Amino acid sequence: MTTIEPEITEREAAQKLTEPLIFERSKAGRRGYQLPALDVPEQSDVLPQSLMRGEIAEEVEVSEVDVIRHFTRLSKLNFSIDQGLYPLGSCTMKHNPRINEEIARTWGFAQSHPFQAEHQVQGNLELLWTLEQTLKEIFGMPRVTLQPVAGAHGELTGILMVHKALAKSGNARKYILIPDSAHGTNPASAAFAGYQIKELKSNNRGTVDLAVLEAAVDEDVAALMITVPNTLGLFESDIRKMADILHAKGAYLYCDGANLNSYVGVARPGDMGIDVIHSNLHKTFSTPHGGGGPGAGPVGVSDKLAPFVPTPTVEKREDGTFYLDFNHPDSIGRMRAFHGNFNVLVRALTYMRSMGPTGLRRIAQLAVLNANYIRARLRKHYHLPYDGPSLHEVVFSDKLQAPKDVHTLDIAKRLMDYGFHPPTIYFPLIVSGALMIEPTESEPKEELDAFCDAMIAIARECEERPELVRSAPHTTPVRRLDEARAARQPVLRWRRSV
Ligand SMILES: *Cc1c(COP(=O)(O)O)cnc(C)c1O
Repeated sequence: MTTIEPEITEREAAQKLTEPLIFERSKAGRRGYQLPALDVPEQSDVLPQSLMRGEIAEEVEVSEVDVIRHFTRLSKLNFSIDQGLYPLGSCTMKHNPRINEEIARTWGFAQSHPFQAEHQVQGNLELLWTLEQTLKEIFGMPRVTLQPVAGAHGELTGILMVHKALAKSGNARKYILIPDSAHGTNPASAAFAGYQIKELKSNNRGTVDLAVLEAAVDEDVAALMITVPNTLGLFESDIRKMADILHAKGAYLYCDGANLNSYVGVARPGDMGIDVIHSNLHKTFSTPHGGGGPGAGPVGVSDKLAPFVPTPTVEKREDGTFYLDFNHPDSIGRMRAFHGNFNVLVRALTYMRSMGPTGLRRIAQLAVLNANYIRARLRKHYHLPYDGPSLHEVVFSDKLQAPKDVHTLDIAKRLMDYGFHPPTIYFPLIVSGALMIEPTESEPKEELDAFCDAMIAIARECEERPELVRSAPHTTPVRRLDEARAARQPVLRWRRSV
């Protein structure tokens, strides 16, 4: 097994970063684009003088080659899924088939305007309608809204529907129950919808403890939000029983299905007694994500919640034409202007249609197989805090490396030297020093092996040369950033240094 030696010195790395930026390459008179000759009068009184610029602003003057090299150089400072395995647990960083992009660029989809008359955009309405039918089948739910533009936005939409349904029956209730293994957006969304959160402690298998749940549910509880699979990558095996416990007290069962790629086409949330579910099209259904959007988090609901879906819905007439239906008196209203992120929805339906039902099931099988392959290869080298069979991801900890004073952050940074994006770290919170690895279904066995080889090599380095791991990364243009400062005081504008 090879060890990767420090490749560039700190000084070289700093040089790489401080090459002149595009703004500093500016040369008077240099151009990258030729405007057509002016065919209107240069002076005009169309605009009032007060709105006219007195002096021409200082602009960057560069050639096309300057611009292309600048952006190409920047793109190489970054890591992307198009470059290699990106095992960021719970984020499902998987390949986005390029056919999705091709279809999203189709003129009628890309160029239509949301204010166009219904008869001009029948194809677009049909696409929305067909996507809803497809998701209804996948979720096993009678109604789906496509409006939410993120997973967390779907959670908010779902909880607002629960709130309205309860309020309508006389008592909106106070609490949402959330297990300690749930995704972090769940409590945030529930709080945003006006509820207080009660946390449920998991059992020693890492799943919801039915006795704890039973004791917590009373007439003040609006819903339980479970993440399936949970953030340990484990399947909640007692979902039907949870639903019964909640329903007996008039409460609802919410399912966070962001990572439905672990059971799409195999099991349907609606069949398990779940009342409301969201899924992330930008994870499970391959549309690209990262950097905060755009995404889509459609929400499926049971019959009881269907009257509350956001408006408008897309409906089909008997003659086969489609229309927007605003007539839902109990709707929670709009969650988003127009129809959500339409072009993300185009990509997702393209993906579903190109996979077909058997292809979608195969996605789940491969996602689970890949995560379990990594678990099996690495379990001798890294501590596995919960040993249940994994679904789409596997969570290790740094317990075996900590005695050498090498920790999760060091291991994650060292992976970058081996050419891999680090996994999600220090989450879920119920595992101290967590390394949460999600390979996704789009990785071939060779890439999984290369990743496992790197992880095993790092485990050995932790024993033999811990300093090498503690001081990683050694091959990247920047070393360890002050992440808290980067988040709190982001520098988003270039300023001329004086
Ligand atoms: C990613 C994720 C979310 C949040 O989705 P966003 O689109 O980032 O808002 C919620 N729950 C789970 C389980 C997730 O993996």
